Amino acid sequence: MSDAETLFEKIIARELPADIVHETDTTLAFRDINPQASTHVLVVPKTRYRDVAELAAADPQLLADVVATAARVAELEGLDDGYRVVFNTGADAGQTVFHVHAHVLGGEQLGFFGRYTGASG
Ligand code: AMP
Repeated sequence: MSDAETLFEKIIARELPADIVHETDTTLAFRDINPQASTHVLVVPKTRYRDVAELAAADPQLLADVVATAARVAELEGLDDGYRVVFNTGADAGQTVFHVHAHVLGGEQLGFFGRYTGASG
């Protein structure tokens, strides 16, 4: 990646505060600062890729790690009635931070899009 560092690298490096809920060797999970559901956690790989397409092409195992961490977060957060995992990808989806991240949303009945509709929601 040649783009400037994003704030998620600073969170991974502990240079910015975050409410961390889980960590593995390759991933970090922390609460979204502007939650769009009762539970709203972001899962990032510690290595930066711009979006999920770039991650899938470059390192499928790391994508699997992100999804496994999302599932573990759902377990830790008690989302036994279900949850949603969202990767906003590109401008039309409202992606604002270009370090790939999975949104884990739950803790309430979600509509088709839940309360989560992206940056403009
Ligand atoms: P996206 O629109 O998919 O790129 O999502 C970026 C998400 O990062 C948004 O849901 C923001 O609320 C969230 N966010 C931005 N800054 C922070 C921060 N410092 N700590 C936690 N979440 C953040």
